Amino acid sequence: SSPVPHIPFDNSYARDLVDLYVDWQPAGSPSPRLIRLNAGLAEELGLDAQAMASPAGLAVLAGNQVPPGAHSLAQAYAGHQFGHFSPQLGDGRALLLGELIDRQGRRRDIAFKGSGRTPFSRGGDGLAALGPVLREYLLGEAMHALGIPTTRALAAVATGGQVMRERLLPGAILCRVAASHLRVGTFEFFAARQDVEKTRRLADYAIARHDPALADEPEPYAGLLDAVIRRQAALLARWMGVGFIHGVMNTDNMTLSGETIDYGPCAFMEHYDPQAVFSSIDKGGRYAYGNQPAIAQWNLARFAESLLPLIDADQDRAHERALALVHSFVPHYEREWRALQQAKLGLAGQGEAELALAADLLVLLQNHAIDYTLAHRRLADAALGDEAPLRELFGAAQPALQTWLSRWHELTRNSDAAARAQAMRRVNPIYIPRNHQVEAALAAAVDAGDLAPFERLLQVLAQPFEERVEDAVYAEPAAPAVTAGYRTF
Ligand code: AMP
Ligand code: MG
Ligand code: MG
Repeated sequence: SSPVPHIPFDNSYARDLVDLYVDWQPAGSPSPRLIRLNAGLAEELGLDAQAMASPAGLAVLAGNQVPPGAHSLAQAYAGHQFGHFSPQLGDGRALLLGELIDRQGRRRDIAFKGSGRTPFSRGGDGLAALGPVLREYLLGEAMHALGIPTTRALAAVATGGQVMRERLLPGAILCRVAASHLRVGTFEFFAARQDVEKTRRLADYAIARHDPALADEPEPYAGLLDAVIRRQAALLARWMGVGFIHGVMNTDNMTLSGETIDYGPCAFMEHYDPQAVFSSIDKGGRYAYGNQPAIAQWNLARFAESLLPLIDADQDRAHERALALVHSFVPHYEREWRALQQAKLGLAGQGEAELALAADLLVLLQNHAIDYTLAHRRLADAALGDEAPLRELFGAAQPALQTWLSRWHELTRNSDAAARAQAMRRVNPIYIPRNHQVEAALAAAVDAGDLAPFERLLQVLAQPFEERVEDAVYAEPAAPAVTAGYRTF
């Protein structure tokens, strides 16, 4: 038999945060099959991809063999779900296997999702179905290729078991890699129990892990809040820039690291619509595309509340300090968003005329239900004098487009067109995970056992900025009728 792959674990969470988790083992898989190993990520982590893909590696990834040096545990956390507080959530179907230091010296969590029940499972079965596991794999890799901070999939394994959802589905385990799994909800868990000592240990741990320079500052906890707010403001601007709709922005799904986490009912917007929602559980549209920055700020206010006892012994002063920081989310976000708009439209500056122009483009896209991704991408063609693709996209709305374009040409005419087009194509992807393509790839994998469409889509999304003739079909939006009824969950 093949040797157990060597994974150089260094488990700081288990070491430093005793009493903030429960030691737990994966349930194991009856007859595991490796669906996919992310060889590039394995390499980045300093792991031997061949060993990970071997039978012994598969035993690890399937939860059948806890590898030497691992300390598997279920993390405690709470969370506001759709605005309502649940004092206890926690890893109900996830497990932290351990951490390692990657080739660039970054500490990364290696965790499972779908590895069986834990003490936090409540009514759940602790399992994951193959479709959602592949969805998370695909979306995470797409986000990574778009340059957006995200957790990533190291592997997807079919367990050989079945999972009961609306029907029986093949079960799977995702092996997830993250800068950490510290969530706003992790702090809420201990703060809600008024356990200041544990909240402080958690905050000290977060600082050591994500913002070590703060440890020597006079106000480390306000500093942590500030750092998380800045990371989330930057992340949200990046989501908005590509039309990413997370779908379930509960506080337990918001990281301190600033990585996107938990690809459940997420989807990419097609035609521009601030009210776009794809998740069937989001009945009120709380997590609609256009609400996301405000929701992020709301979540960060919950984080701030958790830190109040640490920020200042004088709670009035702590409140004042925390409130000012939570308010600072808006200017941080706007700064990031303006810079992104400038880059996406190839504008020379962020003057009043430029900002108005950027805002008016969105109005135009909304009024005429124009594809968000293609509109920006085809604008780069227009920079080079080829307006036909953009005009075609606008169809009957061409007169409105023309008026807007003349303003755009006026504001950009002093810059070098070739350089501008090239720069725009580096920020405006041609390929995003189109919902109909994602669904087709998952259906082929789950219903027909055919992984070819999944592999192909993964390959396309790995290089989202470089247009390729042979991948033209992947750039196309779904028919509007498909998008209108599309639900992820
Ligand atoms: P999520 O909606 O994925 O962010 O999960 C919210 C909470 O539900 C977390 O505590 C999860 O661990 C838990 N959870 C979700 N699905 C399951 C499941 N199938 N079995 C057990 N717990 C689950
Ligand atoms: Mg979650
Ligand atoms: Mg989830």
